Amino acid sequence: MTTFSWETKKIENKEVIHPILEEAKVSLFIKREDLLHNQVSGNKFRKLKYNLIKARKLGFDTILTFGGAYSNHIAATAAAGKLVGLQTIGVIRGEELARDLEKTLLGNSTLRFASENGMQLKFVSRASYREKATASFLEKLKEEFGAFYCIPEGGTNELAVQGCGEIIGEKDRSFDIICCAVGTGGTISGISNGSYKHQRIIGFPALKGDFLSAEIKKYTKDSNWDLVNKYHFNGYGKINLQLIEFINTFKEEQNISLDPIYTGKMMYGIFDMIKEGVFTKNTRILAVHTGGLQGIAGMNKKLEKKNFPPITI
Ligand SMILES: *Cc1c(COP(=O)(O)O)cnc(C)c1O
Repeated sequence: MTTFSWETKKIENKEVIHPILEEAKVSLFIKREDLLHNQVSGNKFRKLKYNLIKARKLGFDTILTFGGAYSNHIAATAAAGKLVGLQTIGVIRGEELARDLEKTLLGNSTLRFASENGMQLKFVSRASYREKATASFLEKLKEEFGAFYCIPEGGTNELAVQGCGEIIGEKDRSFDIICCAVGTGGTISGISNGSYKHQRIIGFPALKGDFLSAEIKKYTKDSNWDLVNKYHFNGYGKINLQLIEFINTFKEEQNISLDPIYTGKMMYGIFDMIKEGVFTKNTRILAVHTGGLQGIAGMNKKLEKKNFPPITI
């Protein structure tokens, strides 16, 4: 019945043409991981692959995972679960969202998408959510839902890193620098493991905090990566007019949408570093587009309330 396969199609890297690049004499290409799958896009496809294969192999029929109300990981898990025939449960931060579920789903396209794909949503308070990784919390979930294969918030674990190790391939050998956005660190860890010896990886954290390096070191042996902490725009999910304008101009000029949480901040950072002359002449940069475009609708709702212009998709 299902024709789903984790096999990925070959997608050409897309060159970015821009006066700033010409002036600096560096070249920039985008790895279009956002085009891997229309429902399970980008790095979430990579991160789920070996987890869902293992869950099935172990005989589980249900996946349980965690996320915020706009989480790309929640949306991707719901869709991927449906595609491979696994039930999904999403433990969502914010018990207030359960008060009027119909209204919540009407106003939140991420949760609506998850629900339409069969994900059972369990809303918990912020206090409980903080305890989500504890044995006692997981035990209670098992009493409520029965046995499940558990994937952590953001989807990062050993198998997710293994999947992200497949992002860089033979065709990417000619690049000197590989850039990616960083949330929990799983993606950059996989890229670090899967890249070629002469390549350096630059990660752009989408949030504040100095715990990330330690996280990445859990999954990588290599020290071929650096984090640039200058472009988080004050924290996770935080944006400003400058970033909105950058994303919309980029879309207009390159015809590629960026999301405001991750890839927009990364690309802003890459352009800023090129302007600052960080990269020497003839440097070849590959920026990984990790997807996340499903989150734009949710962000635009917030922007509308603040009288900010919307992000174009
Ligand atoms: C989740 C996500 C990231 C962050 O990936 P990590 O493995 O958590 O670092 C980056 N970009 C997009 C679009 C994402 O959805």
